[in-house]
Amino acid sequence: MRQLIAGNWKMNGLGAQLSEIEAVAAAASEAGRLVDLLICPPATLISRAVAAAKDRLPIGGQNCHAEVSGAFTGEVSAEMLRDAGAYAVIVGHSERRQHFGETDAQIAAKAKAARRAGLLAIICVGETEAERDAGKAADVVAKQASASVPASAEGSSTAVAYEPVWAIGTGRTPTSADIRDMHEQIRRQLVNRLGEAGRGIRILYGGSVKPENAREILAIEDVGGALVGGASLKARDFLAIVAGASAKP
Ligand code: PEP
Repeated sequence: MRQLIAGNWKMNGLGAQLSEIEAVAAAASEAGRLVDLLICPPATLISRAVAAAKDRLPIGGQNCHAEVSGAFTGEVSAEMLRDAGAYAVIVGHSERRQHFGETDAQIAAKAKAARRAGLLAIICVGETEAERDAGKAADVVAKQASASVPASAEGSSTAVAYEPVWAIGTGRTPTSADIRDMHEQIRRQLVNRLGEAGRGIRILYGGSVKPENAREILAIEDVGGALVGGASLKARDFLAIVAGASAKP
């Protein structure tokens, strides 16, 4: 399965930063030979990013509403993202769960909306530091994964990102063994619930992936790629992470 290296710009980026997308796109045919690439800028930049990427680099959104259209002021539907040229959308990022109170049920509805619109949904799960310290990480992630990954999910419409909340933006990462164990657990659960389809879903790791640790993290068994926040803002760092990805059987 090809690894996917996805950048999440969060609420960062004005028109001036499109040059970073141009730089990634310019390197994408070489850098993307073995791996799939994706950059998710803020919604305001999606159509300009698509134009700047010139079909060399897929562009994604960071959130969507579950409905196609309607009286939901300020929201953007999966169909609108698709219409703007997006290829994918991140749903259920821990910042959405934490600051905007998103529930697993809402996240599952967003993931279904993404599939309806023809987008790849990257569904995020991950425990907080308090949950890990209390020995509850496995249970929390299992509950999130079972309730936020729709029963209809398969590899062409869905990726799961394991992102421990305490590792996001902190420079801290779990041990390789902890990442491997959590990915193994998520895989087992996907296969138990979805059968064969569960085998084709990529499980990304996210949380302080940097050029310095990318190779080691991406080499861990069943790490299907990375969701990268801060280090995706600069083309040089993002491409250095991509260089650490490998073709996996
Ligand atoms: C993220 O926002 O999904 C993320 C993983 O952030 P960072 O890489 O900055 O920890």
